[in-house]
Amino acid sequence: MSCDFLLRANPGVRSLQPYEPGKPESELARELGVQRIIKLASNENPSGPSQSVLHTIQDQASRIHRYPDGNGFELKAALAEIYGLDQAQITLGNGSNDILQLLANAFLGPGDEVIFSQHSFAVYPIVTQAAGATAKVIPAKNYEADLGAHLAAITDHTKMIFLANPNNPTGTWIWARELKEFISAVPQHVLVVIDEAYAEYILDDKMASALSWLSEFPNLIVTRTFSKAYGLAGLRVGYGVCHIQVADLLNRVRQPFNVNSLAQAAALTALEDQEYLIDSVQLNNQGMALIEGKLKQLDLNWIPSKANFLCIEVNQPGRELYQKLLRQGVIVRPIEVYELPNHIRVSIGTQEENELFLVALEKALVAN
Ligand SMILES: *Cc1c(COP(=O)(O)O)cnc(C)c1O
Repeated sequence: MSCDFLLRANPGVRSLQPYEPGKPESELARELGVQRIIKLASNENPSGPSQSVLHTIQDQASRIHRYPDGNGFELKAALAEIYGLDQAQITLGNGSNDILQLLANAFLGPGDEVIFSQHSFAVYPIVTQAAGATAKVIPAKNYEADLGAHLAAITDHTKMIFLANPNNPTGTWIWARELKEFISAVPQHVLVVIDEAYAEYILDDKMASALSWLSEFPNLIVTRTFSKAYGLAGLRVGYGVCHIQVADLLNRVRQPFNVNSLAQAAALTALEDQEYLIDSVQLNNQGMALIEGKLKQLDLNWIPSKANFLCIEVNQPGRELYQKLLRQGVIVRPIEVYELPNHIRVSIGTQEENELFLVALEKALVAN
């Protein structure tokens, strides 16, 4: 007897395309038969983990036969202290992706509308569609989120808005004044999720974290991660901060032990290691300046970015340039799935990685 499982899946899931992650280094190394691969495809911190985090993980390794603290008490306490929050506002996640998923599980279903911008993070459409809700994608304006059009798209059915600041894959950002005006203008029945995965890279005082506005807007949710500037992508830990009633709902749908013990301990140590963070931001700024300088020489356009990556217009299909870079052992990200078919996204690496990328890029541009 045959059974078509596709027909039995939830309607939203049937037409989903799985998220395509950056190509793993080990896979390309096998294919090319080379050792040295430069991976600039997933916006990871290129410095590697901090020494203090490595020590913490070694210390904690002997305890992994125990379940983690399901409430993440110590990590939440540290976050609450640093950001002046009530612990009950914080939800820890297996990466901040987990928080986005929990939000969808708790709030979204058939008939609900979810608003987000064109070129915004791929997880928003995935969690929306998987929950059976309807995505309303707002055309971008010069690659940026068009906030006025977001407001105009709100209806009685709108449940949630996802907005990344800065956004991935474009690197575009929203100034504090504009963002606060926007949040103020959203009716309170709509949850506004501000995704601040790259917040730690921002030093500009015309920018602000939406964390500071939580007490004014009960419908505001801010997500953060340890995967980017803190250098813990492989451990999977992030968090969401929101009204305690919303947090209570997220807690109901969360897996009891969604953040593992090594991740919790490492995140706590990472929070205390300000030096690592400062060095990482500095390395990023220097790398960004180096790459931008070379792009100018090569007469290539890019989208100005406040994150740890650049979106470069390559004047040919981005997928083809990506292949040409792969053959030289450099992994970047083609982004046609983000409706940017002639761009690539490249994460800022170490100085050496950036230099090798630029050499490979110059070669790839003249290759056919
Ligand atoms: C990388 C990223 C995330 C989260 O990643 P996690 O590793 O799941 O924390 C969330 N949003 C955006 C915009 C990102 O680029």
